[in-house]
Amino acid sequence: MATFDDFQICDGDLPAAILNQYLQAERIAVDTETMGLRPQRDRLCLVQLCDHKNQITVLRVAQGQTEAPNLKRLLEAENTLKIFHFARFDIATLQYHLAILVKPLFCTKVASKLARTYTPRHGLKELIKELEQVELDKGAQSSDWGNAANLSAEQLRYAANDVRYLLPAQEKLMGMLKREGRWELAQQCFTCLPTLAELDLQGYEAIFEH
Ligand code: MN
Repeated sequence: MATFDDFQICDGDLPAAILNQYLQAERIAVDTETMGLRPQRDRLCLVQLCDHKNQITVLRVAQGQTEAPNLKRLLEAENTLKIFHFARFDIATLQYHLAILVKPLFCTKVASKLARTYTPRHGLKELIKELEQVELDKGAQSSDWGNAANLSAEQLRYAANDVRYLLPAQEKLMGMLKREGRWELAQQCFTCLPTLAELDLQGYEAIFEH
């Protein structure tokens, strides 16, 4: 495990001490970096985590790795809410590659679409800019995450930043959803996400369309 400015990197799985620390959190932010958008073709390279104390971990997943027991325990722990931006993809890739069934869930992209009906811009960058007044640099977004041993400082910073502002943004979205009477509907959407991810993995498209 290596420690950088303000985040730590580990390989394969979470060390027990980090697992126990995150298990104490009510909410954690989670993101993944992959080789692409098709789990069956594109491997999972990184899993990033952040808690309310801003403890950020970047976990490198090895090529061919099929399990990460400590990560699984955390991501399936009932008492810790897992917050993603566009959870539908991340939970599918975590299920496909590491057999993790993430729960309970909150998706800031779904929440943004339900709450921020005054804008069509629901990307992470736009969301964080409006809610947290922080300009995220998405320069390394489409980069070679497969080169895990030699990730650049810029890539690692980018990966860490994708989880850094999610918790405060989630709190604000939750406030907006409650204010607008859409909290129940949001919860119902989050409950559906594992089903949508499963449909994606099985190759179904638009089965709710006419
Ligand atoms: Mn990301």
